[in-house]
Amino acid sequence: MDETKRSTMELPISLDLSKKELEDLIEKAKDWALMHGMCLRPRKDFDINTLQFAPFVLFPSPFPREEFQNACDLQVTLNTLIHRVAHDYDFLKNTLEETIKVDKFTKKLFEIYETVHEEGVAQKISLGILRSDLMLDTSCPKTNMKQLKPHCCWKQVEINTIASGFGWLGPVSTQLHKFILQELGYTAELSNLPENNALQILCSGMIEAWNLYGNSQTVILFVVENVTYNICDQRFHEFEIRKQNPNVKVIRRNLTQLAVTAKLGPNKELIVDDYIVSVVYYRCGYEPSQYDSNKEWVVRLLIERSLAIKCPSIQYHLAGTKKVQQTLAKPGIVARFLKDETTAAKVKEIFTGLYPLDFDKYGDEAVEMGISEPECFVLKPQREGGCNNLYGDTIKNFLRSVKSEKTRVAWILMDRINPPIHKNYIVRPGFKIEETINIKDLVSELGIFGVIIGDDKNIIVNKQGGHMLRTKSALDNEGGVATGLGACDSPFLID
Ligand code: ADP
Ligand code: MG
Repeated sequence: MDETKRSTMELPISLDLSKKELEDLIEKAKDWALMHGMCLRPRKDFDINTLQFAPFVLFPSPFPREEFQNACDLQVTLNTLIHRVAHDYDFLKNTLEETIKVDKFTKKLFEIYETVHEEGVAQKISLGILRSDLMLDTSCPKTNMKQLKPHCCWKQVEINTIASGFGWLGPVSTQLHKFILQELGYTAELSNLPENNALQILCSGMIEAWNLYGNSQTVILFVVENVTYNICDQRFHEFEIRKQNPNVKVIRRNLTQLAVTAKLGPNKELIVDDYIVSVVYYRCGYEPSQYDSNKEWVVRLLIERSLAIKCPSIQYHLAGTKKVQQTLAKPGIVARFLKDETTAAKVKEIFTGLYPLDFDKYGDEAVEMGISEPECFVLKPQREGGCNNLYGDTIKNFLRSVKSEKTRVAWILMDRINPPIHKNYIVRPGFKIEETINIKDLVSELGIFGVIIGDDKNIIVNKQGGHMLRTKSALDNEGGVATGLGACDSPFLID
């Protein structure tokens, strides 16, 4: 879509400050971010003892109040949907059957699932910390009929079931923006920044799981990367857990360390060094490169076999794949899981067109669509963590090259969402002030958190829990903050 023609949204606050005012405000905001732990470890000139502020936008970004509320309200239903999908063995098996023939990574995950399924799972309870990511859209046919709003609806980008980050960076962005608005004298406007208790709610979910396990001597294990850049986001979860319950200790280990130290006790307890682990929280393990060798896969299976409550358990991980997302968009599938037609219809409304690339009539049609109008789609493999998708002409070239290859079924094609544009300043470490004070055309992606605990029969906890907003240049395809493209943001609700 032509960026210049896309509709825009405005913040009801003037962004026009004098150069001096702007420079002062930016300096102050950077220091606020640094001093409140709104930080990342630097990728360039990495040093374990150094933090840089996370990129952020100076002002909160406008977001329609009604759509924000609708997204929060729907989360509990999305949690239920994913929970039921995760507990439907036949559905997961049929859905991923063709994918795992060509996608080694998904195959490895699926093998773990098959193994524990055949053996009978030791721990039936799962903890889901989910994040449903969405964008407002301007391109669906409804917009043309009703141009009163800059957007027509909102659409789900994906739902994350593993390592759903920003439980800290989300809420702290709201705090930063409150500070900035106050600095500028906009106290009356503060009520438009919705409360964000993501950190408290996600951590209370982990503590709830720890309680359910029922042994006060146990610890929560964070499975982390070899090098953690998004360290504040992870550590603040740890600190919050201690704050909520001083008896709960958190330990951090990467998969390679666990491969050496983790073992199963006589009753399948997960034992790491001298600790019994009751809850395993993965902030890693969603990318092939995070499994350095077969050892890491062996320990993932060992953890899955254990009595510890996993966040996510393997079936939840699989339920978050793009292939499952695409299959859920097929007629009648959501209704099968949610039973109630009205609720199913509400969920279906947020799905974009999603197309398989199977070797059949529909798959062939999708390949042709992607080749003839690549700018209308995003092409996605079964991966998480950003920077894996293809856009624009790359889609065309790629589809031409894999048209007759079996590997094409590992990908799905998705309608491209075109969010409305708004203006703001992006503040990044290493950027010169002259660059920062250039106002930019930006687009945002909202993430709504959900916590769910349950087993194949019962759901014990199911709640919506806070949000996060990421903003990127309207010209960029992707916007992960940890990958360096996006900036932390918070919504300013507009009517
Ligand atoms: P990942 O699991 O790697 O995070 P996503 O599906 O979330 O993969 O895609 C990564 C990013 O690509 C999103 O954060 C968003 O910026 C962009 N993106 C993904 N799907 C779409 C889409 N359908 N339309 C527009 N942008 C998209
Ligand atoms: Mg994503």
